[in-house]
Amino acid sequence: MSVAAPGGDDDESVRVLRPKRAAPADAVRPTRAEINLGHLRHNLRVVERAIGKATRASNPGIAEVWGVLKADAYGHGAPAVARTLERAGISGLCVALLEEGLELRAAGITLPILVMGGYYGPLHRGLEEVVEGGLTPVLYHAEQIEALARIAKERGRSSIDYHLKFDTGMARLGAALTATNELLDLAHRTRGLTLTGLMSHLACADGADPAPTTRQLRVFEDVVKAARARGLTPRYCHVANSAAAFAHPASRLDAVRPGIALYGVSPFVTPLAGNEAHDAALELRPVMKVRSEIVAIRTLSKGDRVGYGHAWEADAERTLATIPMGYADGLSRALTNRGHVVVRGRRAPIVGVVSMDLTTIDVTNIPGASLGDEVVMLGSQDGPLGTAQVTSAEIAELCGTIPWEVVTSISRRVPRFYREP
Ligand SMILES: *Cc1c(COP(=O)(O)O)cnc(C)c1O
Repeated sequence: MSVAAPGGDDDESVRVLRPKRAAPADAVRPTRAEINLGHLRHNLRVVERAIGKATRASNPGIAEVWGVLKADAYGHGAPAVARTLERAGISGLCVALLEEGLELRAAGITLPILVMGGYYGPLHRGLEEVVEGGLTPVLYHAEQIEALARIAKERGRSSIDYHLKFDTGMARLGAALTATNELLDLAHRTRGLTLTGLMSHLACADGADPAPTTRQLRVFEDVVKAARARGLTPRYCHVANSAAAFAHPASRLDAVRPGIALYGVSPFVTPLAGNEAHDAALELRPVMKVRSEIVAIRTLSKGDRVGYGHAWEADAERTLATIPMGYADGLSRALTNRGHVVVRGRRAPIVGVVSMDLTTIDVTNIPGASLGDEVVMLGSQDGPLGTAQVTSAEIAELCGTIPWEVVTSISRRVPRFYREP
């Protein structure tokens, strides 16, 4: 898909490519990600309950939920996730990139979509396409406001909605506080645009210390006051990611922007016992399961070695199984000799080096393990030997990263299958 700026010269137009990924119909290999849409809906309800919204009926005074679907809905497949959330009554969606927003429009999504990223940057490239696609831009620079106003004028539009982003202490993206007055003055006097939102992003909402979040909220409140003092009345003030939505009631404002929680992963990487917000997040159910099947089995004698660099040696007679998934699929090479998978309902260790397409596991302690058995790399499995799971938090800890990176790393080579339980 390519979108050219109507009337604009070639230098101004932006080619937007549709993301390519493996389709279920292409799947010969048994490796796939199963996306449980029932769990997705359940997680939306858990977030709604956490912020005090008990039913989907409109509930004045309670924050709306705007789901974050950037990075292909954290690897879950944005179009299907968006359709499910739209039907479940979510109020809006957020993406990072222009092309992510256009993909959702092409999939028929009619919800408001906020493009949060600084994709168009100081050169404000892509703003035409944001408007053309019916997406709402997030701006943080005077030149962007001026560029959007020019677009409104050229198109004879009486009003184009936009949100302004302020940096309240993340030091990443957003207008500097020193520019607040200048920017709000410009927003106030610019014709053809409507400021419908003010936003910021929190740096430490998942941390044990609430002080940095409280500080950022206070700074944001000053920005909101400065806007109101100019007669600006943005409908949406929003700052809360998943962690803030659960743990910081004062951050919920007009809308919360959960990402990871919708996908069923607690934003609190080390949950504290007895913490109400952390307990509420434990009700989330993982949406993604990554599974494959045993494609080869062999018996090793004591002293036999496995894989690249012979990184693992059998200390006795051992039964090894091979699964067709490797680091090119998002099974991190850092799991070499450390990670686990689940076979027949019991955990089995990864042995030897995780290679690009293949991984070996030790099934000596899995009686009956045989060719074609399902192997779960992420998620839970019921089997004849019991029920066991591998969580994204466990993988993240072994790999020195966070669950967000684990789910977004499942590569496009792995087809996504959608389950309606
Ligand atoms: C990614 C993102 C979110 C969602 O964060 P989670 O921790 O996944 O809930 C919210 N707001 C912004 C600006 C983001 O970039």
